[in-house]
Amino acid sequence: MSAHVLVLGGTTEARELAAALAARPGVRVTTSLAGRVARPGAQTGDVRVGGFGGTEGLAAWLREHGVDAVVDATHPFAASITRNAARAAAMTGVPLVVLRRPGWLPGPGDRWHPVASLDAAAELLPRLGRRVFLTTGRLGLAAFAHLTGLHFVVRSVEPPGQPQPPDTRLIQARGPFTLSGERALLRTHRIDVLVTKDSGGTATAPKLTAARELGLPVVVVRRPPLPDGLSAVPDVRAALDRLGPVAG
Ligand code: NAP
Repeated sequence: MSAHVLVLGGTTEARELAAALAARPGVRVTTSLAGRVARPGAQTGDVRVGGFGGTEGLAAWLREHGVDAVVDATHPFAASITRNAARAAAMTGVPLVVLRRPGWLPGPGDRWHPVASLDAAAELLPRLGRRVFLTTGRLGLAAFAHLTGLHFVVRSVEPPGQPQPPDTRLIQARGPFTLSGERALLRTHRIDVLVTKDSGGTATAPKLTAARELGLPVVVVRRPPLPDGLSAVPDVRAALDRLGPVAG
């Protein structure tokens, strides 16, 4: 009998985990994507796209599709689906593993300003610079829309909608990014402050090195906490270990 693992995805780690699970005999893997990105990367195993309809909808999906284990491998800032997964797992008794890549840590020479939210980042920004490289994702742009005196260079995978700051230049791109590319970007656009979420991982980390080299301040939005009682594993290897017998 095969084991069915649902991977809540949208990250590199989720893609790697799905490939590793699919290679195991007797394991069937389905990756769930929210559907925010028009052309997501290639994926091993089955894929389903779109919201489940909240906790109840996710719990029903787990039951209907005979899911034996769930891995929440969503982005560290995708707090709603993580909360729903925790509740749905508790409701159905399906084991849940949370996979979260570790956050970034400041090193010598970094000028980081940690903040709790995008709103707090927007409040702090005018004191730190006038030309902003904003990499917090298109859906959070509204928090900065009232900052009329600043120039924003916004980088996102998909074009952002409204509202957005009036003086905004869009760079549409998807990581991974290189250190030389990030250096060039900061110089070309004469950036004097960077805003980022603490996403962790290597794909988007070079902007932090480039900012350090140029002595630029970086506003770092801290991660939302995990729901009570949950702990995360840091990588695909540890997620496979935690799944243990459930997934062969
Ligand atoms: P979110 O705020 O936690 O979720 C909002 C709603 O979107 C959820 O309640 C759920 O709808 C649906 N959803 C989210 N992730 C889903 C998934 N993997 N499969 C099916 N439905 C999902 O999430 P978000 O921050 O918008 O992120 C959406 C997706 O983009 C996630 O897969 C995440 O891994 C990825 N992502 C997010 C970020 C970020 O900065 N937030 C960055 C890179 C990638 P229902 O309640 O209807 O089930």
